[in-house]
This record gives sequence, structure tokens and C-alpha cells, in this order.
Amino acid sequence: MEQIYTPWRMPYLGKISENKACVFCDIANMENDSPENLVLYRGERCFIVLNKYPYTSGHAMIVPYIHACNLEDLLPETQSELIFLASHVVEVLKALYKPQGFNIGMNVGASAGAGIAEHLHLHVVPRWGGDANFLSVIGQTRVLPETLEQTFERFTAMWQERYGIGEV
Ligand SMILES: [Zn+2]
Repeated sequence: MEQIYTPWRMPYLGKISENKACVFCDIANMENDSPENLVLYRGERCFIVLNKYPYTSGHAMIVPYIHACNLEDLLPETQSELIFLASHVVEVLKALYKPQGFNIGMNVGASAGAGIAEHLHLHVVPRWGGDANFLSVIGQTRVLPETLEQTFERFTAMWQERYGIGEV
């Protein structure tokens, strides 16, 4: 019998919500990562996933496995890994896209603009001078230079080049 080793799940068994309405819990529970679910990396306490509706190419999110809506509900180790992985995402995106800046942040609560308010997540959005002006000119249409699949392939290749295929 083939054994599947998923160490990231062990501390969280029984803690990940079974709520089918939560897309992040669904992704957290998936066994296989691919361009299908857009999961770029799984850490011990958080995973990295591409935003399905990116603001710019490379728009990624770091998501705790645990279903929590408040930053203060996370263990300090989880809070640390959230920022640790965000810094790695920044390095990879810098190498891939040469952005001139980043928006890194969380929308906590629906009133603050969180699309999925019940499951905290940290956005990392690469920015270039003039991209917002460009967007305002063309209204709601976002013109992205590559597909999500291309972003996925490029990101994972660069991640492995920089950090290897195991735990970072
Ligand atoms: Zn959730």
C-alpha cells in the first residue's frame, strides 16, 4: 500500500473546517496540488496559492490552514510563518516580474473588503508604476500578460530554484 506523507496536515487534523462553503478550507484539504487548485507551496502552518482573480500577474495569497477570521486567533508560530512565507513570495515575484513595488495586506472583515471574510489570508500583489492608472482607463477589465497556468509554472519553477523542493 502506498503511503502518502502529508506532514503539514498532522497538527491540524480535526481543526480544518468541514464547512464546504469555505473555499480556503476546501483547498487546504486537497491532496494534490497542481495548476488546478493553484497551490504553489505548502508550509507547516500556511499554504501559498495564486489568486484566481488576480489584480496583477503574480498576485498570490498566504493562507493559514486553520479556519480563523481574526489575526489574533492565530498562534504566534502561524503568524510568523504567514510573514515568513510572504517574504519568500516577494523574493520569487521580484525575480520573475521585476515589480517596482508590492501591496502586502489583509482585508479583515467584510466591511474592510474581504472577499472571503471568514478565513484570514494575506495578499501579495506585485505593482508597477502606472498600473493603477492603466486600470482606471480601461475600467473593470484587467489585462494580464499571462495565464494563471503560466504564472503557476513560472512561480513553482523559480521557487524550487531558490528554495528547493522540500521545506523552506
Ligand atoms: Zn476556511
